[in-house]
Amino acid sequence: MGIKRLARQCLLVATPAGAAAPGPAMAAGITQDSFPGLGWVAALVLLVLATCLHALSLRRQLHRKVRELAETEERLNTILNSADACIYIKDMQLRYTYGNRKLCERFDRELDEIIGADDSLLFPADMLDTIRAADLRVIEHGERVVYEEEIPSKSGDGMDVFLSIKIPLQGPDGKITSLCGISTDITALRKSQEEVQRLAYYDALTNLPNRRMLLEQLEVAALAFRNAGHLAAVLFVDLDKFKNINDEKGHDVGDTVLCAVAHRLQAIAGQADMVARLGGDEFVLLLRDLGSARLLAQARALEVAEKVRAALGDTITVGEQAYFTGGSIGVALIDAPGKSPIDVLREADTAMYQSKENGRNRVALFRPDMLAHVAERAALLREMDHALQTDQFQLLVQPQFSRQGEVDGLELLMRWDHPSRGMIMPDKFISLIENSGPVMQIGDWVIRQACRLRARMSERGFEHPISVNISPVQLRHPEFNTRVRKILEETGTSPHELILELTESVLIEDVDDTARRMQALADIGLRFSIDDFGTGYSGLAYLHRLPLYELKIARNFIQELPDQDSGTLIRLIIATARLLELRVVAEGVERREQADFLASVGCDSQQGYLHQYPVSMDAWLDECSRRSSPV
Ligand code: C2E
Ligand code: CA
Repeated sequence: MGIKRLARQCLLVATPAGAAAPGPAMAAGITQDSFPGLGWVAALVLLVLATCLHALSLRRQLHRKVRELAETEERLNTILNSADACIYIKDMQLRYTYGNRKLCERFDRELDEIIGADDSLLFPADMLDTIRAADLRVIEHGERVVYEEEIPSKSGDGMDVFLSIKIPLQGPDGKITSLCGISTDITALRKSQEEVQRLAYYDALTNLPNRRMLLEQLEVAALAFRNAGHLAAVLFVDLDKFKNINDEKGHDVGDTVLCAVAHRLQAIAGQADMVARLGGDEFVLLLRDLGSARLLAQARALEVAEKVRAALGDTITVGEQAYFTGGSIGVALIDAPGKSPIDVLREADTAMYQSKENGRNRVALFRPDMLAHVAERAALLREMDHALQTDQFQLLVQPQFSRQGEVDGLELLMRWDHPSRGMIMPDKFISLIENSGPVMQIGDWVIRQACRLRARMSERGFEHPISVNISPVQLRHPEFNTRVRKILEETGTSPHELILELTESVLIEDVDDTARRMQALADIGLRFSIDDFGTGYSGLAYLHRLPLYELKIARNFIQELPDQDSGTLIRLIIATARLLELRVVAEGVERREQADFLASVGCDSQQGYLHQYPVSMDAWLDECSRRSSPV
């Protein structure tokens, strides 16, 4: 029987007017009459006993509750103290009534100091108003407040970011009695968020905005045009020589060059403009605020593009070494409501390719007809490997003639005999190969063909050297020298039987390196010729540093003959060649008076339609046979 129940029964039994409330005792047939004389005393004893028992039980319960409470509090404290957040309670006067261990540690205070104190103990004066305002919203309006606070870091260098959640605590009557706050240090999280943001929108190497950021900003610029007619322009910049530097000098040097380029572009860009790196050696300048007059905007964009071109034309020094990279630039305007950021980038990219094709280190403004041209080039590029495998490339022979009218050399000129497009001239595909095609495979093929032709000519008694055009990309390739030697060996060709024609521009870049590469080949007997001499750079100072055999006077000088200035220039070139003991060949000789003039000023050899059009190898070999056999 429960203690409470027992006591209640005792009381019922002791009640004089027990009949008024018949209890279970009566129900069980126990009445005063059952215990005559003992009645009241026994009831009283029982009552006292029951009360004592009840009190004892209550005490026990109380002890247990207190013990349970203490355990609960200890557990709670353990949990609160091991939490990685500052947890605290403030009363209605905003004084601390509780603080966990993290709070004490964060502010380097003992709990005793904190309890009863207000925020002026923990925070600098300039933060107190903000904290108080947040706290009042909690205790006066019962709001749950969540906000970020910046608190001076413990070390004193910088700020820590805390996410604070403050909630009201209510008494049993529902009234707010205090405020509980949980403040979590999210500094590391914030930093990693910022890093993620940086990685998502900025280029890690140069710290410039990346493609994603650029596209967003282009969207903004496109909107500014649609809403207010504000024109903007995109300058697509591609470095001309970067790949060589990166391949030959390694990525560290390459990275330094890219950072230097980024600085130069930033120095040119205005406040409102943006410089982004798309990746590799591609950069974009977004020029904003170009007004609303299209022609003026165009002129302004081209002016900036020209500045960029000039800035990239200056050498970049890394360590002791100076590098020349140059850049081709394409310009497109955000000037039509339907133009998307991708459209305008594509246009600028297309114009950039046009600059490259025009000879690199140039600026081109986008024109719609460029797109068709690009599509055609892309198609050619796709077909190139197949063309190589299926013998679609051909080499024509154009002989050179001495002053006495004898053949004294010949040049091989490439053609692409395309199954559906017909004969394609080199100016349509050579730059394509150089920019992104199988330049080394095709270059090897040309040299191998030259060696084979040389052997077949030799069989017919023709021992003249064969000139082959070498692309700058080929010469700069780390494997070029080895590949040439290998082909010579494989075909049993003597190096004296070939002349490698190089353009002037490739020679002046990084002269030391070029000279070293050329010398290694010259040492085994290969000879070098400067093609299109006079078109590139007037400085002749570098010539004596290179192992040269020949100069080829550019066709445009010959075509202008007998114009007096061209005549003077040609005399000058021949005098220089004499000084350096170089042979001189004139190319593109079409008219008799040109040939006569050249002969009169001592030009060693001539090549051109006047003497002979380029012919197929078979035709040339037939000619060799004819010429060698006595009539
Ligand atoms: P290039 O080395 O300056 O070649 C001379 C160009 O002048 C050739 O054009 C030739 O057909 C042309 N030509 C010859 N005589 C005359 C003439 O009397 N009048 C005129 N107007 N032109 C004449 P082609 O064959 O179209 O070659 C153009 C360029 O393509 C070459 O210029 C050369 O830089 C490049 N190229 C040709 N074959 C190869 C090759 O196998 N490899 C490389 N890398 N480039 C090549
Ligand atoms: Ca040539």
